[in-house]
Amino acid sequence: MNIIELKHVNKRYDDGFVALKDINLKIESGKFYSLLGPSGSGKSTILRIIAGFSQPTEGRVFFAGKDITDLDPAKRQINTVFQNYALFSHLNVFDNVAFGLKIKKRPLREIKPIVKDALKMVRLEGYANREISELSGGQQQRVAIARAIVNEPKVLLLDESLSALDKRLRKEMQFELRAIQKKLGITFIFVTHDQEEALSMSDEIFVLNNGRIEQNGSPIDIYDEPINDFVARFIGNSN
Ligand code: ADP
Ligand code: MG
Repeated sequence: MNIIELKHVNKRYDDGFVALKDINLKIESGKFYSLLGPSGSGKSTILRIIAGFSQPTEGRVFFAGKDITDLDPAKRQINTVFQNYALFSHLNVFDNVAFGLKIKKRPLREIKPIVKDALKMVRLEGYANREISELSGGQQQRVAIARAIVNEPKVLLLDESLSALDKRLRKEMQFELRAIQKKLGITFIFVTHDQEEALSMSDEIFVLNNGRIEQNGSPIDIYDEPINDFVARFIGNSN
């Protein structure tokens, strides 16, 4: 069973711009996916539609076989890590990670062990009382992931979440993200415009261009057998 499925999704923004054209996606449980494509190709629009922050103009979104197109984002078992992490810089690490649980009025004695486990998962044990501003970019990224996993989502969406990091840290976080995904055993859908990143991290890649899926498959398939000139050029293998 697919954990996420998009069927014939089109998106026309209010100004008339058509950002997605007949998007069909099948996402399995427990795998690492990348949406790869140049800026403006529609990657973030797809994530927002999966998360429920944006509605498709046409088409349906399914979660474990159930139509969730009209379901409130908070009721989906899907969380998002944004590019800028959207952390509260005036709160410490613990309060950032606990934020969503506090809103749901969970008692502190329940929240504490959940936050502790999440920080352990991202290797930030001992950082609970640190200020966000004292952390490196990679550490802030890990706090954002910890905050996103405390509600035990089945799917984590990550929008260009490594793009702000310098090259060395970025490599490190690529391994880190894969390790976290494996440990959690949930589905990650990772948005990037960096072909090398998508090739090295993913079980499966969807290559996007101009609001369409040009090709999907394993990194090896896409690299070895690009379906057209666009994919060949974008992947960097024009043979
Ligand atoms: P990507 O994440 O791949 O860079 P986006 O999904 O953000 O692409 O955007 C796809 C296209 O839709 C772009 O051309 C963008 O300018 C356009 N777009 C995004 N959001 C809006 C909006 N709210 N109104 C009109 N056009 C938009
Ligand atoms: Mg984007």
